[in-house]
Amino acid sequence: MSLVAQILDGNRVRDQIKGECRPRAEAFFRHAGRQPGLAVVLVGENPASQVYVRNKTKTAGETGIYSETITPDPTVTTEELLHLVHSLNAREEIDGILVQLPLPPHIDSQKILLAVLPEKDVDGFHPYNMGLLATSRPGLRPCTPAGVIEMLRRNEIPMSGKSAVVIGRSTIVGKPMALLLLEENATVTVCHSKTPNLPQVCRGADILVAAIGRPSMVTADFIRPGAVVIDVGINSITERAEAERIFGPDNLASFEKRGSQLVGDVNPRDMARLASAYTPVPGGVGPLTIAMLMRNTIEAAERRTGLC
Ligand code: NDP
Repeated sequence: MSLVAQILDGNRVRDQIKGECRPRAEAFFRHAGRQPGLAVVLVGENPASQVYVRNKTKTAGETGIYSETITPDPTVTTEELLHLVHSLNAREEIDGILVQLPLPPHIDSQKILLAVLPEKDVDGFHPYNMGLLATSRPGLRPCTPAGVIEMLRRNEIPMSGKSAVVIGRSTIVGKPMALLLLEENATVTVCHSKTPNLPQVCRGADILVAAIGRPSMVTADFIRPGAVVIDVGINSITERAEAERIFGPDNLASFEKRGSQLVGDVNPRDMARLASAYTPVPGGVGPLTIAMLMRNTIEAAERRTGLC
């Protein structure tokens, strides 16, 4: 089947969402006499986390959100971190609290995430907010899957009545993704590592979402020609042979230059060849997550002050 696939551009949708955030933040300022406030807690020296947090605070500034980054000593205990979260819960001018994951292994991450006040849980991971989502009530939605829905909506890709398959059932992506697609009236199947006949199940999808964390695992035999493919995966590969398998022997210039390359969970060549529309990696789903975090922070601020 020969198709010219539509590339779903995450940078464009990110800029749209950011553009909508700024006037909302300004309207909030006029209403509350302050900016919406975001506190980011970063423990340890994970380089990827440091980059994410820098991007979050930079984007906050661009969208009219006050932000502060708190970097407790890496030896901080669970109890001390709980104390910090409680103090942020109590601060009136902080509307959103984000604890950057992963936390060091000596910290009880679940205990920390549970301590964040649900009304300030801008990541949308708290069981209370997951419960609101599962019962179709308004609330703060997890940023990455909510970003995927925005991507589909803004590209006028119909979801209602479509068959959607989500590979992955994590609390961060897969499960809320499935619930959000259900909310859009898709018929949803959730797959995971114990799903038999995975390629066959995936071939039934009008909309296929891969949130696995395995480079280029989804290949041509998973994709129904004409399907919409959303690749949430972000993986870094460093093996030349793997790069060759994924990109082909003639497309290794970028890998050769850096010695590594970012790839999604879906084979980029198969996706481009078979899908009617797809998100590239990088530049697809990735940029949306931070934009949705800003939107959640403004929404949390509006809710907390009775503006919505
Ligand atoms: P998790 O590791 O928490 O979950 C992975 C899921 O994939 C699990 O449900 C697992 O199944 C399933 N899985 C693993 N191997 C297979 C397999 N062989 N066949 C079928 N299913 C399988 O990952 P996350 O959900 O946190 O992240 C998924 C990907 O999305 C990662 O690449 C991550 O980097 C990326 N990501 C991207 C974001 C963005 O902003 N674009 C944000 C968050 C994540 P089981 O439950 O049975 O173990």
